[in-house]
Amino acid sequence: MFLFFFIILLLGSSPCLLARNTPGFTNKEVAGISERFLHAARGSEVAGISEFKKHFRRFGYLPLQNGTFLVTDTFDDRFESAVTLYQEKLGLPTTGKLHLATVSQVSTPGCGVPDTPTTFHGTKRYVYFPGKPRWYRPMPMTLTYAFSPVNFISSLSSSDIKVVFKRAFATWASVIPVSFVETEDYAFADIKIGFYSGDHGDGEAFDGALGVLAHSFSPESGRFHLDAAETWAVDFGTEKSPVAVDLESVATHEIGHLLGLGHSSVKGAVMYPSLKPRDKKVDLTVDDIEGVQALYGLNPNSRSGDLLESDISTNQAVNLRIRASDMALPLILYLLCM
Ligand SMILES: [Zn+2]
Ligand SMILES: [Zn+2]
Repeated sequence: MFLFFFIILLLGSSPCLLARNTPGFTNKEVAGISERFLHAARGSEVAGISEFKKHFRRFGYLPLQNGTFLVTDTFDDRFESAVTLYQEKLGLPTTGKLHLATVSQVSTPGCGVPDTPTTFHGTKRYVYFPGKPRWYRPMPMTLTYAFSPVNFISSLSSSDIKVVFKRAFATWASVIPVSFVETEDYAFADIKIGFYSGDHGDGEAFDGALGVLAHSFSPESGRFHLDAAETWAVDFGTEKSPVAVDLESVATHEIGHLLGLGHSSVKGAVMYPSLKPRDKKVDLTVDDIEGVQALYGLNPNSRSGDLLESDISTNQAVNLRIRASDMALPLILYLLCM
């Protein structure tokens, strides 16, 4: 009986923050592999296409055929459609071919949450999970978060990690009437944060360094899991590893999922599904802000509404980033976020 309810719970909340897997290739191989695929046409057989099929299947671009998923190296019609859909969703040149930009994108570490390729909102690029779930509490609402006392990492200091999460939560809180407060009561926290290795019991096993970085679940699950195998960084000045991953960027992205946002096709958006090692992306774009405000409304204490209007009036809405530091300072100061 317990297992039954656990399965229902998993089905009811979409996993969100798994980083993108490199489908069997290292980054160094990508250019050569793309060369191999460049001339692949419909009907051809090219070794390695099965890896892309698995990737597209995992992220929602390749539906089952008669209830089954055939893993072959054939460049068939369905595969071409999946490539085209993926390119449209990720803002890549839409060719239906496996060109370098597409192969590189598939190989970039990122979020493990499946994309929702068909749910666009007019000209906007932000998306929601099926059913548009969000947190339902009296507004303005407060959500609590806590770190797992067991599943944590020792490579960074606990206080550094907490400061980073506090900032990431504050970034979102600055634009919506939602506050985030850290609690020591892990069992009863709305949002439960932990670092896990490999298979950790929720059907979304982590894969070691890079690939999938983290995953979280749609509202009102609150589960927020990070891959303990990553080289997490809070400061690239002290963490020199070439595969270091910015903790704040990933946290900011995952909190978007926890609030109900899916993956955006706007490359600069926090909710874009991939992040390169040593890249930092912590500033919400207009796309992120419009998406989350459509769910929760505006934070009456922030200036984000004014900024949005001025962005739109200059036709630079998508590219302009709004820094949390530009928002209402008193609100940010008392929030405890990622
Ligand atoms: Zn994601
Ligand atoms: Zn997990």
